[in-house]
Amino acid sequence: MNEYPEALTIAGTDSGGGAGMMADIKTMQACHVFSTSVVVGVTAQNTIDVQRVLPLPLEMVDAQFKSIADDFVIKAAKTGALFDAEHVHNVAQNIQRYSLENLVVDPVMVAKGGAKLLTDDAIDTVITELIPLADIITPNLPEAETIVKHSITDRESTKRAAKEIQQLGAKNVVLKGGHSNGPKNDDYVLLADGSDFWMSGQHVDSKRKHGTGDTLSSVMVAELAKGHSVKMAIQTAKQFMNEILQHEIHVGQGHGPLNHWG
Ligand code: PLP
Repeated sequence: MNEYPEALTIAGTDSGGGAGMMADIKTMQACHVFSTSVVVGVTAQNTIDVQRVLPLPLEMVDAQFKSIADDFVIKAAKTGALFDAEHVHNVAQNIQRYSLENLVVDPVMVAKGGAKLLTDDAIDTVITELIPLADIITPNLPEAETIVKHSITDRESTKRAAKEIQQLGAKNVVLKGGHSNGPKNDDYVLLADGSDFWMSGQHVDSKRKHGTGDTLSSVMVAELAKGHSVKMAIQTAKQFMNEILQHEIHVGQGHGPLNHWG
């Protein structure tokens, strides 16, 4: 009998199959972890754009958390797109109600095509209610700038921003450099014990990078669910990303999905 660690993604769907919860589930499958899911909202989306967004009624979100808690032993979980302040608050409450551990918070705000996946007035709820629950938080540069409310222009300001996010309550911070314009794609990691390091990744000039953030954070969840350390989970995630970016698949006409088979 095969036994797989059980994990949870709390996020939005992507009808185009490349990002959000769909990327989470595919990634965890590739990492040999069983992913359950709480759908917080639904998007009508393809590789070209996000056409519509519909957050689900809160009672339905609650019902999914209960169904999962009644049956599974969740070893690690992640949050993705949470849409608005009400849903962020609800998710933070449920994470505490069911004592979910090994939580990776991907503070998704805007899709690559520009569609908003979090309302502006929800940022404060993310800061006060969700970030303090995060074992790992994985903002990209624009998300980190929104959280710390100042711009990040170089390595020094990146380090300062990560420290500020840690002071908001996230234990470990992975500040992703993928939105910078340089040839490199370095991520800065600040661990709970104060140690830090940079992870390098080659800047891949590709349109087929839809769902990279979801994929990276999902590998971390999968590795934490297997019982690996935070540092190892982060390093494995970066390695996984660097590998799958080398093998494109051609699906859709716009910003295509990643190849989760690697
Ligand atoms: N749609 C959903 C539901 C998401 O959760 C995300 C990212 O987390 C995206 C779209 C955006 O993906 P990307 O910015 O990689 O295109």
